[in-house]
Amino acid sequence: MTRAQTRVVVLGGGPGGYEASLVAAQLGAAVTVVEAEGIGGSAVLTDCVPSKTLIATAQVLARARESGQLGLQLLAGDGWAPVDLAAVNSRVLALAAAQSADIAESLRSRGVQVVTGTGRLAGRDAGPRGGHRIAWSAPGLNGQPGLNGQPGLNGEPGLNGEPGLNGEPVAGGELIADVVLVATGASPRVLPGAEPDGERILTWTQLYGLAELPDHLVVVGSGVTGAEFAGAYRSLGARVTLVSSRDRVLPGEDADAAGVLQDVFARRGMSVLARSRAASVTRTDDGVTVTLTDGRRVTGSHCLVAVGSVPNTSGIGLVEAGVELTGSGNVAVDRVSRTGVPGLYAAGDCTGVLLLASVAAMQGRIAMWHALGDAVTPLDLDQVCANVFTDPEIATIGPPPDDSVRAVTLPLAGNARAKMQGFGDGFVKLYCRPATGILTGGVVVAPGASELVHPLSLAVADRLTVDQVAQAFTVYPSLSGSIAEAARRLHTRALA
Ligand SMILES: Cc1cc2nc3c(=O)[nH]c(=O)nc-3n(C[C@H](O)[C@H](O)[C@H](O)COP(=O)(O)OP(=O)(O)OC[C@H]3O[C@@H](n4cnc5c(N)ncnc54)[C@H](O)[C@@H]3O)c2cc1C
Repeated sequence: MTRAQTRVVVLGGGPGGYEASLVAAQLGAAVTVVEAEGIGGSAVLTDCVPSKTLIATAQVLARARESGQLGLQLLAGDGWAPVDLAAVNSRVLALAAAQSADIAESLRSRGVQVVTGTGRLAGRDAGPRGGHRIAWSAPGLNGQPGLNGQPGLNGEPGLNGEPGLNGEPVAGGELIADVVLVATGASPRVLPGAEPDGERILTWTQLYGLAELPDHLVVVGSGVTGAEFAGAYRSLGARVTLVSSRDRVLPGEDADAAGVLQDVFARRGMSVLARSRAASVTRTDDGVTVTLTDGRRVTGSHCLVAVGSVPNTSGIGLVEAGVELTGSGNVAVDRVSRTGVPGLYAAGDCTGVLLLASVAAMQGRIAMWHALGDAVTPLDLDQVCANVFTDPEIATIGPPPDDSVRAVTLPLAGNARAKMQGFGDGFVKLYCRPATGILTGGVVVAPGASELVHPLSLAVADRLTVDQVAQAFTVYPSLSGSIAEAARRLHTRALA
């Protein structure tokens, strides 16, 4: 079978699915992506893009609030105008919708067929080529609401995939694929006893419906999502209480970085309750009560429950197709995104490998390179860089350090550019192998750390030594100067 004859069906149009579709189309396959909610997936419509857009607004306000030390007094005293959250949220949602439309257009312009509907594996095809059957149905078929209660398309669905208005198939149908990529993502985990009502008890997907800034937001969960929203809402001016079941915020991140953030949160007036596990969240007349497992109660006006996510893997024919699911319901895949079933691949949050859009996209691309016989390098998690979009940001590259690496930490308080810009929270931490000086990873805690980490990512990917990193020019004055300086210090220590 040539690539042009290969029929690829992608289930789910998030980063895992749309990036895979672009690669498969580039390699000449006939590609169809079936997406239930909107191209771009949760990443674009409810998770990554909206949250980072909201955070961009919050960061401007945080900078402005702390600009007194720069000699500015924009408004007398602390008299900031209240945030117009309805305007902020409508910008967030419009930007997300536009981003989704851009990606859908990019897919269509490269020949990818986009089907709006919910798909599932429906067994093997009896024809000579075999292949996987994928049944799909449009939202609203037979009067059933679509996912998230959305109404059906144009009211009147066609039948059996007949074209509807605008020539788009609207009812449902069946596709046959030689290669299937399952990239169905994940959904917010619901804590029993803390079911979201969309008004006061919220998941992260529901925050953008708020018309006014919460008076007091209680955030349950101090992982990346909880910390990002807690920080952003505090910067926007809400009172915030962060309920953490662990000793500190961001239990999965570098302990020094989490310590910096926790100090910043405290300085900005956030209340962090450590070792506090939420047992339930209930509505009161004018707000919410969060009851902790030790009986304490925390009251607020709203509660965001951010306690992780569950993979969207049930009811889509995976088990029937012979696909192995892990104990947590994720699709088990290898480093080239294969499931154990020939022709069936999976990528992104549904695999639970690392819940990042960048990893989903890479898994999707790898799947297509492998399936369509192109050159492929298996996924290497040691090269993943990730960022927590708090203020300051926390960017990490490489595996967590162990005793075998040599490390140096350089506080940014001594960096000339940081002083000029008026911030002192943060550091650069680098790790290398003592014998060779090869850089294995690092952590950057700084405003804009997500941009600063890229040279480290290149260095890790290309196995550069700390000397090579140190000898490349940096701009003076610059925060990146501290990266080169940290690398220089590792040279001294390596010789010691
Ligand atoms: C609040 C928040 C902020 C985040 N911020 C970042 C960030 O800054 N950077 C980062 O790298 N990652 C971030 N992430 C993680 C990132 O959003 C996910 O890792 C990413 O969305 C995973 O992509 P995906 O393609 O696997 O799934 P998704 O983006 O979830 O897309 C899956 C798609 O599949 C569709 N689907 C599901 N079932 C079916 C079906 N049966 N038929 C058809 N379609 C179906 C869904 O409608 C959905 O559109 C964030 C996550 C959260 C919760």
